[in-house]
Amino acid sequence: MNIMVVGRGGREHSIVQKLSESAQVKHIFAAPGNAGIKKGAECINIDENDHESLVAFAKDNQVGLTIVGPENPLIDGLVDRFLAEGLLVFGPSKAAALLEGSKHFAKQIMQKYEIPTAEYQAFSEVEAAKAYIEEKGAPIVVKADGLAAGKGVVVAETEDEALSAVDEMLKHGQFGAASREIVVEEYLAGDEFSLMAFVNGTDVYPMIPAKDHKRALEGDQGPNTGGMGAFAPVADLKDASYETALESIVRPVAEAMVQEGRPFTGILYAGLIETEDGPKVIEFNARFGDPETQVVLPLLENDLEQVVIDVLEGKDPGLEWSNETCAGVVVASKGYPGEYEKGRPLPELSVDEKVFVVHAGTAFADEEYVSSGGRVLLVGSKGSDLAQALDQTYQSLHVFDDSDDFFYRRDIGRSILSSLMH
Ligand code: ATP
Repeated sequence: MNIMVVGRGGREHSIVQKLSESAQVKHIFAAPGNAGIKKGAECINIDENDHESLVAFAKDNQVGLTIVGPENPLIDGLVDRFLAEGLLVFGPSKAAALLEGSKHFAKQIMQKYEIPTAEYQAFSEVEAAKAYIEEKGAPIVVKADGLAAGKGVVVAETEDEALSAVDEMLKHGQFGAASREIVVEEYLAGDEFSLMAFVNGTDVYPMIPAKDHKRALEGDQGPNTGGMGAFAPVADLKDASYETALESIVRPVAEAMVQEGRPFTGILYAGLIETEDGPKVIEFNARFGDPETQVVLPLLENDLEQVVIDVLEGKDPGLEWSNETCAGVVVASKGYPGEYEKGRPLPELSVDEKVFVVHAGTAFADEEYVSSGGRVLLVGSKGSDLAQALDQTYQSLHVFDDSDDFFYRRDIGRSILSSLMH
């Protein structure tokens, strides 16, 4: 079968790498892909948001299955367009992707179906939002309702910080239409983890839990990013928390979406926090997480194409997972997530067979790889445990140690490693 993967990031490279292992996959197209994806797929120059060209390409090239990576085309209804043309596609409809597209909608679903999450209220009026913040006090969290490229969340340690976030979002339209409405919610303390599942209506097939590191700098300092490194499974996560997350969060939300007449098909991603009262939801995403996918898919022992087909046909794919641990560290352009330079040449990486490289923001120019985005690469490895996976990964990263152009966090997984040792 010919398969098309829509997207251009590390997540999509990882999906392409996994699909390349499948004997049944004849040809992989990526739209538009990146310089690393080119090694495993034919990259076609179509933007992920150009729905009409994607549909036309799929029809003209006998694409039997399309997997959509990023949130924007999902929230804009790309899947609906494919389905209307009778094309097989894996991802949620526009109605179901609202779970990621509107934080207020996600909160309403959680409230209605009693899915554990932070207490909240939604606002479109500045004064009402401010009064609520003054009543509740800090710490408190202010979120733009819509998509804001990971920048629409302010975890405010003081009331003033929260009040100015309200002004920025509601009064000054910081994120345009995405911040015409905001959610103000209770601050939750605890360790975060992510749980993704293959979902089709009420069928839920969970993956292993993963943990990413969102802050730019070591010691979880600096601004939030798309993610600076990840590992899976999460060694210190209690089995009971995983079960609770699955039975009281992921399955109920899939059932709720069916009840609401918005059945969800695709990858449901729950961003969770392990509080004293058990796991609670931070956010839902309607697609594979990035960088979690890059460390979860290498541990999947099934054929990914077959899994997706089975899920779409309502069959149990019988997921099987390696008992190894996979870790990945992101190499980013200096300055990210703020201003950074593009087009910087990447040093030659010497990697052995234990280490894999996933491209995100790279391009190929004048016979060499150069940077083309904030997050450039993810270097990862599988090991018998987290310590081994990290060791193998970090050994390959020294080439970036004195770089003027790139940086990476040296403490991915470290807090868990030290807590496991005590
Ligand atoms: P993403 O980049 O994953 O799409 P996002 O912009 O949708 O992120 P969230 O995941 O909702 O934003 O929040 C970003 C981060 O802010 C979380 O990973 C978490 O660290 C922190 N956060 C969000 N909500 C809360 C909360 N209620 N209590 C404490 N921390 C929170």
